[in-house]
Amino acid sequence: MKLLEDRIVKDGIVGAGNVLKVDCFLNHQIDVALISELGKEFYRRFQGEGINKILTIEASGIGIACLTAPYFNVPVVFAKKSKTKNIAGDVYVSKVTSFTHGTTHDIIVSKKFLNKNDRVLIIDDFLARGQALLGLIDLVEAAGATVVGAGIVIEKSWQEGAKLIRERGIRLESLARIASMDVDTGVTFVKD
Ligand code: 5GP
Repeated sequence: MKLLEDRIVKDGIVGAGNVLKVDCFLNHQIDVALISELGKEFYRRFQGEGINKILTIEASGIGIACLTAPYFNVPVVFAKKSKTKNIAGDVYVSKVTSFTHGTTHDIIVSKKFLNKNDRVLIIDDFLARGQALLGLIDLVEAAGATVVGAGIVIEKSWQEGAKLIRERGIRLESLARIASMDVDTGVTFVKD
């Protein structure tokens, strides 16, 4: 998506450890008009699929999901990152190792908010090694619901996440696909 690629080139900062910082429009300050355009694009790609729920993960996914949901006219559910052990039976639990922090934690969703009739679109900001997305897919599958697809704002295509998700047979739509990035030379995109 050209609008997004242009914004990444203009404002993205390539940091150490394969991390792209997009704090000024996505991860800290949010450019609502831009993210709303991304939501419209997710709708264009996934409309007609009977999606009745959007699932994301706190924190950065929430804003994107909430600016996407109005196009589908569906609610947003976000998985919570839990530091305590969850033994209660009223939540679905999966494990995620954070790409940016390197720590592993449980993610949870209340059983009240995911059920077997749901057709779920999963939304997140980045796809790197795929751990966040695989954790979210686990939660949907634990509920017996259907993953219609995954909508990602920025895919770092050289990392294994995209391949892992496609191998699971999940439809993946990434609005910007980064082929490579370098502190000195910046970002290059996958050419479709
Ligand atoms: P994965 O689980 O696919 O390895 O990583 C996805 C998660 O890690 C995203 O939810 C995002 O929060 C974070 N992440 C991965 N790569 C980047 C990056 O380059 N920049 C930022 N800001 N976050 C990232």
